[in-house]
Amino acid sequence: MDDHEPSAGRGTIAYRGRGDAIYLNLTNRCSCACEFCIREFSDGVYGEVLVLDQEPGVEDVTAEVERAFMDGPADEVVFCGFGEPTMRLDVVLGVTEWLRLRRIRSRLDTNGHGQLLNPDVDVPAVLATAGLTAATVSLNAADPETYDLLCRPMFSKAHRAVIRFAELCVGHGIETTLTAVDYPGADPEGCAAIAGAIGAGFRLRRLARPPETRTSEGGEV
Ligand code: SF4
Repeated sequence: MDDHEPSAGRGTIAYRGRGDAIYLNLTNRCSCACEFCIREFSDGVYGEVLVLDQEPGVEDVTAEVERAFMDGPADEVVFCGFGEPTMRLDVVLGVTEWLRLRRIRSRLDTNGHGQLLNPDVDVPAVLATAGLTAATVSLNAADPETYDLLCRPMFSKAHRAVIRFAELCVGHGIETTLTAVDYPGADPEGCAAIAGAIGAGFRLRRLARPPETRTSEGGEV
């Protein structure tokens, strides 16, 4: 997916939300169809349209990161956006390497399907080698049945794979945090217990809901 023309199309690639991070929007594709996905009721966050008509390549993304830094410093650059970043693993790796060379902290905000989506690659290992600083892995449920109902993954046995992905990220020295959304049916306590068992952190994520879409936390996607 790296043979892209420079993106001149619609859709924001790099944007700022609350806090001092720059967020990156690499794709609108995802291997989940979560009940609570912001994409169900909005075309973006923070006033930015995140619906892409063309997926950006590495050079498109790094150019947008440079542009975003011209507006001021940022604590980290986060792969997030309106889809699952590891659908574009090559771009994540290329941009992460670019950030590492500039000593800029990077974080992957993911549904944890990276290994399922890229079965021929040891994904946590290549992310660590590229220099990824942190990963925030969306788990939401403590058991597979609830996970499948809430997140509607395209893969079977995805719940176990998400936990394993996070566990391997921990093992590769990536700062790893499991998350659960504040949504009926999600199990923050159960997810926190799993996080503790694999050596990851845990964070409850506030969920963007339709009336507050434009001002709420961006990119639980
Ligand atoms: S919330 Fe995230 S993981 Fe779930 S469908 Fe939306 S983009 Fe995919």
